Amino acid sequence: MPWVLILLMTIQSFSPGNADAFADKMEEYYGFNLRWEKRYIGTWMGATVYGNNGCTDRVYLSDQFYGELGDDDLWKGILAHEWAHVSQGSQCANNEHDADLIALEMLWNAKEFSAYFRYAKFLQEQWGWEPEECYARR
Ligand SMILES: [Zn+2]
Repeated sequence: MPWVLILLMTIQSFSPGNADAFADKMEEYYGFNLRWEKRYIGTWMGATVYGNNGCTDRVYLSDQFYGELGDDDLWKGILAHEWAHVSQGSQCANNEHDADLIALEMLWNAKEFSAYFRYAKFLQEQWGWEPEECYARR
């Protein structure tokens, strides 16, 4: 079977149930309890870890996140990025590059290869990363 088909078979669309299952799986790699909840927020991509008093211990996802990430598994990379911010603790603010490196590392370690390559593509297209930057922590 061509590798493209194998990758496609692993893609899951976003749903609350799939997000919970993904959180359960990823906890082993992050080493702490991964939480998310739905809440209205106005940030880009509709996901954040920021609360009223700065960095929090959970990820907030808005309707925008539910709507825009549809049938693609980019949502796993975004969640991995936000949980990386949680792992940064009080250093979570404006620590985007490190959060992206952590997200890629965690996706790779968890063998979430489809999500890994989708997020690497996103980083290259959206932020102009060079392909080799995506392999920095592997
Ligand atoms: Zn971020």
